[in-house]
Amino acid sequence: MKFTEFKKIAKKKSVHLLIDLDSLEQVKEGQKILVKDHRTVQEENRFKVKPVAVTESGQFYVVCPICKEVHVHGLGKASDQKGDLPSGVFCGSRVSHCHEGDYDFRIVIA
Ligand SMILES: [Zn+2]
Repeated sequence: MKFTEFKKIAKKKSVHLLIDLDSLEQVKEGQKILVKDHRTVQEENRFKVKPVAVTESGQFYVVCPICKEVHVHGLGKASDQKGDLPSGVFCGSRVSHCHEGDYDFRIVIA
C-alpha cells in the first residue's frame, strides 16, 4: 500500500507503531511518495527488514525495500519458511514481487 494510506491505518487503535514514522525517508517520485527505512540491511541478495508497526492480531507492517511502499505480513509459519530461522524471524505472506529475481526479504524482530 501507499505510505499515505498506511499513515491513515497507523492511526487505528489496533495498530502499534514501533518507530516514529518521521524517521522514514520520504522520496517523491512523480505523484507518489515512496519511503525508505534506513534500518533495512542488505546481506548478499536478501534484505533484512524490521517492522514499522504491529497489529493486535499479530501482523507486521514493513517498508518494502523493493517497491518502497508498505506491506503487511502475517505472523506464523508461511509455506516458504523452512524451519531454520532463528527465533524472532518471521516470513509472512508477501506480494509477488518480493520473490522476484534474486531478491527476497525477511522480517527481523529483534
Ligand atoms: Zn514491495
